[in-house]
Amino acid sequence: MQTIYWKLQADNEKSASASLTQAARLLQQGEVVAFPTETVYGLGADGLNGAAVAKIFAAKGRPADNPLILHIADKNDILPLTTGLTANAKALMEAFWPGPLTLIVDKSALIPDEVSAGLDTVGVRMPSHPVAAQLIALTGRPIAAPSANISGKPSPTDAQAVLDDMQGKVAGIVDGGRCGIGVESTVVDTTSPVPMILRPGGITREMLEAVLGAVEVDPTLAGSTDFKPKAPGMKYRHYAPEAAMYLFEGAATGCLPQTAKQAAAQGLKVGVLCSAELAAQFAAAENNIAVSCWGSEVSDLAEQLYALLRAFDKQQVDVILAEGVDEAGLGLAVMNRLRKAAGYQIVTVAAGQLCAKSGTHLPGFMLK
Ligand code: AMP
Ligand code: MG
Repeated sequence: MQTIYWKLQADNEKSASASLTQAARLLQQGEVVAFPTETVYGLGADGLNGAAVAKIFAAKGRPADNPLILHIADKNDILPLTTGLTANAKALMEAFWPGPLTLIVDKSALIPDEVSAGLDTVGVRMPSHPVAAQLIALTGRPIAAPSANISGKPSPTDAQAVLDDMQGKVAGIVDGGRCGIGVESTVVDTTSPVPMILRPGGITREMLEAVLGAVEVDPTLAGSTDFKPKAPGMKYRHYAPEAAMYLFEGAATGCLPQTAKQAAAQGLKVGVLCSAELAAQFAAAENNIAVSCWGSEVSDLAEQLYALLRAFDKQQVDVILAEGVDEAGLGLAVMNRLRKAAGYQIVTVAAGQLCAKSGTHLPGFMLK
């Protein structure tokens, strides 16, 4: 399949509109088109057309039991998609839409099974990105759109990453530049008496609590395997780079530079993902070590995380050592993505020694 690529020019509104009109027509015809949102790039199809939605699953290789989020351009567009909204859902729409918040609501009969993967509920979001909003409005339908990556890989935050995964598999890609937030939307189940965060994201727990009072967090997000996560997609390995990745948490972060140097001395090509503070502990050109420094704010890490993980794949590193961050605010979403990217291989410190969190096997270069 030939993939049409539209590069939108911010200073040429007329040509951008013509591109989006063409993209909207393809969506109306049941084709799949990738487009930017404020979180990550989405892979869109007409959310009320089961056959069109099935093409998204095929292009991504996404498991059929993982439901999709419907994207709308106007708050009222949620009404036909649900049998009714709780007071909590309405309060969250007022406070955070348009924006990076997905609401799980009871679904109406309009929703194809391909979208909800057999559940009685559906996820709905109104993105704030002007290109996403315009494209959805021009199409005139809710747009089903998961992240525009091959299932399991890091999500795309620029159009080149979408091309890398989707060229030849989808009808079109709208290039609207880099995504600002960089991690996916927060998913909140609004059907339970106390709303529950099923996936942390751009709208933080603290922001939700300021509106709702109490909010719960799905206990499986902490890595517990005793329960099944309420968001089916959260059980899959995800955001994963090709190299083995280890996440250093708490006091272990201070040992990361030394550990990286030990691994490099053993001949391994090491990717290091860290803040400016840790990056200062490496020489400008360290043999066998690629240092990817994201800065000092957790929002900088969120914005760059997936691009830096994809860059490690291109550099073909053997192992990735990543510095964990505090879980306040956006840190909860970032740590959730880092833990999943690392396949829950987490390194901590006990009795002054590096040690593995349960289930992690520490490689030889970490052992003294
Ligand atoms: P993605 O489309 O890749 O951004 O992922 C969407 C996430 O939302 C996945 O983790 C899904 O499992 C989750 N999700 C979508 N719809 C529902 C729903 N009705 N109930 C629970 N989780 C959902
Ligand atoms: Mg995804």
